[in-house]
Amino acid sequence: MQTAADVTQLIGNTPLLHLRQVSERTGCTILGKAEFLNPGQSVKDRTALGIIRAAERAGELEPGGRIVEGTAGNTGIGLTLLANALGYSSTVVMPITQSKEKIDTLELLGADLHLVGATSYTDPNHYIHTAERLANDYAAREPHGAIWARQFDNLANMEIHRDTTGEEIWRQTDGKVDGFVCAVGTGGTLAGVSTALKAHNPAVQIGIADPAGASLSSYFGTGELSPSEGNSIMEGIGINHVTGNVAQARVDHAWSISDAEALPYLFDLLQHEGLCLGGSSAINIAGAVKLAAELGPGHTIVTILCDYGNRYQSKLFNPVFLRNKDLPVPTWLDI
Ligand code: PMP
Repeated sequence: MQTAADVTQLIGNTPLLHLRQVSERTGCTILGKAEFLNPGQSVKDRTALGIIRAAERAGELEPGGRIVEGTAGNTGIGLTLLANALGYSSTVVMPITQSKEKIDTLELLGADLHLVGATSYTDPNHYIHTAERLANDYAAREPHGAIWARQFDNLANMEIHRDTTGEEIWRQTDGKVDGFVCAVGTGGTLAGVSTALKAHNPAVQIGIADPAGASLSSYFGTGELSPSEGNSIMEGIGINHVTGNVAQARVDHAWSISDAEALPYLFDLLQHEGLCLGGSSAINIAGAVKLAAELGPGHTIVTILCDYGNRYQSKLFNPVFLRNKDLPVPTWLDI
């Protein structure tokens, strides 16, 4: 019999999907790693599993213990599913500005959910600092203790991407991958995959696709950490400081990509290839197209399809919301 023993075994080993339209347009083979097929429906299930397993190995997470994390939502969803499966509990701190669908999902899964204002990183009430504070509170009073997952600086995040996502991409392409591009939330995916691919072949070209208003395209382009112009509605990506995971990334190309440039890729994918993805996937695909233009036709470029579009139906696929932001509206919703 071929069976999965538990939900952890459903994480990873996702297919590499040929993205037809952008491949035809660029003359490259552009492939998307179908991370939306993970049980929590995002790339962040891998991070959640990597952090939990590392904490178990280090003896930091006791049976029955609590895992606390600040998240844009997807890591919280992964951590909560895994906490339920492995006998832990989870506390999730999230900015109130994140999509209603992610908040609903976390409530559905039974997370101890704390919504906080969307403030700057320097504010002590920022969701990351709130998570650290709550983890300390819980550690002091819960019978089995609590840990703070620290996905931004915890290198277990990039390590699971190095050992799974990156190795899978190398195997699935028979080592014929020429480039890899993704956006950054914590930097776990970019650092892990770039480390794995460059260990196999240092010539593999790595690109960061940064949403408008984020600072990493300038950081990797010029060494200076300053935000690009504009802002972005894409959730889970776009940061203005160098995290512990970002510091491990090996990057050759950096672009700032506007929502107006990225969204048509998302709408075209849904309308003509039957795939409904979230906003960070649009930034990633736009980045893959930019790398294809730099490398020229005939190359193989991989990116990440991070999560499903229905997680953002009230924003990305809402004509009123999009029109208010002066963003393109999908033709079939433009009524
Ligand atoms: N896309 C989405 C939808 C996410 O939630 C995240 C993580 N916050 C990312 C992309 C970025 O992944 P990473 O944290 O590995 O940089």
